[in-house]
Amino acid sequence: MTDGGITILGVFVADTAYRAERQPRLGETILGKSFVLGPGGKGSNQSVAAARAGGRAAIITRLGKDAFAELAIKTWADAGVEPLVTHDPDSYTGAAYIFIEEATGDNAIIISPGAAAKISTSDVDAHADRIARSSVFITQLEQPMDAAEHALGIARNGGAITILNPAPAAPVSDAMLALCSYVTPNETEAAEITGQTVETIDQARQAAEIFMRKGVGAAVITLGERGALIHGKDISEHVPAFSAGPVVETTGAGDAFNGGFAVALSEGRHPVEAVRFGCATAAISVTRPGTAPSMPARGEIEALLA
Ligand code: ADP
Repeated sequence: MTDGGITILGVFVADTAYRAERQPRLGETILGKSFVLGPGGKGSNQSVAAARAGGRAAIITRLGKDAFAELAIKTWADAGVEPLVTHDPDSYTGAAYIFIEEATGDNAIIISPGAAAKISTSDVDAHADRIARSSVFITQLEQPMDAAEHALGIARNGGAITILNPAPAAPVSDAMLALCSYVTPNETEAAEITGQTVETIDQARQAAEIFMRKGVGAAVITLGERGALIHGKDISEHVPAFSAGPVVETTGAGDAFNGGFAVALSEGRHPVEAVRFGCATAAISVTRPGTAPSMPARGEIEALLA
């Protein structure tokens, strides 16, 4: 029997965002214009999105024993995410250096995953019961692939709906895809895995067919401001994006979508309704700055859907 919960296996990183006129050259020091520290990492963002959207979310991950670990724990406490965390005394909590060019808004990023790079099949086994009784299990590609595949297998055997958000873009084995009820790539990620160009809705449908031939239940390809396509055996529908106001920052739109999509599925909603719920969640998040802090509350999502 599944228990209505959503279990996420994934990564937390502290995003340290520096705005400056330009990047320093090697050996040079320059003054920046501003600095923002915020919680990031796809797994963490998705867990926050799911909890804020009304889901009972838990995150399995690895942190160090440092100030950024405290930021992670506080972020999850504020959102109502249950932490299933190993604190690794020999490593550090993941961190990302984000340079933002003042004039253009373009960025350059270094991610050091730290303890999260050591997420292992043993970490997954420590929470195997929890994964197996979840209604929905979701993971991404920021942590080692073997841990993700192992967890997907446990979730699948337990009867959970399994979602792989194959981000950041990387090749994924057919064995892993065959464990997925849903994959939720954006266009770039769908192109990377299927080897097809994915720019139009028709091309997204063709990519989804390839995912299905590899054993995926249905592919949900997110299309930015064009919404999302869900395509599976008995289902094929393009859900347009919602508009919730002027767009401020689209970073984390995919994470908001996945969190919302997981919540709706955990409540037994029809997959197309779940995609609408995910699109509404993401549409609100892009009207606000930041990633985790931009995730909407349940009432806001329902108001947009009404
Ligand atoms: P990612 O952030 O992973 O690149 P997308 O850009 O495809 O993912 O966005 C994910 C979802 O967020 C889309 O399916 C859509 O529902 C929503 N979204 C993205 N950009 C916008 C936008 N400008 N306006 C409204 N919704 C958006």
